[in-house]
Amino acid sequence: MDRAGIELNGVRYRWPPRPVVVVCIDGGDPAYFDQGVRDGIVPNVARFIKTGFGAVADGDVPSFTCPNNMSITTGSPQSVHGISGNFYLDRDSGEAVVMTGPELLRSRTIMAEFSRRGARVVSIAAKDKLRRQLGKDMDLSGGSVNFSAECADQCTLPETGIENALALTGMPLPHMYSPELSLFVLEAGIKLLAERRPDILYLSLTDYIQHKYAPGEDEANRYYRNLDATFGRLDALGAVVALTADHGMNDKSNADGSPRVIWLQDVLDARFGEGAGTVICPITDRFVAHHGALGGFVRVYCLGRLDPEDVMRVTRSLPGVEAVYDKLTAARRFDLPLDREGDVVVISQADTCIGASEADHDLSGLKGHRLRSHGGVSERKVPFILNRPLRAEYAARAAAPSARCPSSSTGRSAPSTPPGPRRAPCGATSSSTSRSTGSTRPDRYLGCVTRPRCDENRHPSRHGRLLRRGGGAARSGAARAAGRHRR
Ligand SMILES: [Zn+2]
Repeated sequence: MDRAGIELNGVRYRWPPRPVVVVCIDGGDPAYFDQGVRDGIVPNVARFIKTGFGAVADGDVPSFTCPNNMSITTGSPQSVHGISGNFYLDRDSGEAVVMTGPELLRSRTIMAEFSRRGARVVSIAAKDKLRRQLGKDMDLSGGSVNFSAECADQCTLPETGIENALALTGMPLPHMYSPELSLFVLEAGIKLLAERRPDILYLSLTDYIQHKYAPGEDEANRYYRNLDATFGRLDALGAVVALTADHGMNDKSNADGSPRVIWLQDVLDARFGEGAGTVICPITDRFVAHHGALGGFVRVYCLGRLDPEDVMRVTRSLPGVEAVYDKLTAARRFDLPLDREGDVVVISQADTCIGASEADHDLSGLKGHRLRSHGGVSERKVPFILNRPLRAEYAARAAAPSARCPSSSTGRSAPSTPPGPRRAPCGATSSSTSRSTGSTRPDRYLGCVTRPRCDENRHPSRHGRLLRRGGGAARSGAARAAGRHRR
């Protein structure tokens, strides 16, 4: 076995001398740990911050699940790995395309590279939508494993490297809208760590709780208490444990509890006529009850003669809009793949979200809860916590005012030639490329009733049915689609 490590996207990663566990706490806004440490809910995390490392980092924008999971696991920005949302509009077909297919991922993952060098890798995602990209080109012949909790009952040896994943934990198959979906991931990871001693584990959770409950609420406390206990057990098994998130979360509701929404498709239709432009809400996924397909970042595709400048002028004046960018500026600012970018990017303020057409969003899944969602710049802050202290080299880097990335939990060596500013050398399994140190001071944290079949993601066309253009109008919109998504 070649233990020389790997190189991926210009970054060298050392072979981990002990198991490295990276937990992506979906929707794990730093505020949950702030509150949890203060209230004594997360004693293990508090200990990690004290004796290891704790900071707040910048995730990628749009602050959505798929892009950031891919940034973390490929160690590269979206311009490199290509996954800049959960959906994009295929201009040729006019269809919104789900971005979960491995063919759309333009990089291998760090896990895949290590597995191909003989390392044993375990990747467990709560949501099946991430599984195929996380496992892209992974070599499962040497004992590596790649499955989702959502579909733990459908694992086959050739596809996931494991046959009886459901039997790992003793838990029943968790519901897709439940905290148990995340706990299953962690319990399965602990079991595999104890029994197989893999070199790298990537455990990606679900943001069901964070979409529903603010920091300090009973349900959030219960969830974080449970998470913290599993982090302690991973630590006790001798692993390097790295905790981060794909994005944060903000309350986007009015005082009366109704969602504070800019219905952008309706605004554009009224101003420019129906069919002039299409609003795509790239937060859309099968988990619409989380957020009603309402997030903080949308793309507008101009059809026919609609001028992006006119769209920008109109959207800039809307209350609740934080920023509007043309395609090129957005791609440069957030390091996005230009060929998958809309003509105009609209980002909302922290307390507001953006939808397409009001008629097309089904908000019944919120069931009386205030809307909490993400996607914009205001939800890009994520925790960056390690259970062990940084090596001197990384501590110095983290302490530097210009630091863009505090550490690598794989203990990779620094690249000999530092990448450019947007290709910061921080894409280890514990950090996305654009993550930056917010603070290195530990006290930063003191201050379906019927389950859908899991092969839905394997047939984008099936999902596409939900996203098809509606009513003959020359517009589609993932939101229209997602709004009508019935399980
Ligand atoms: Zn997420």
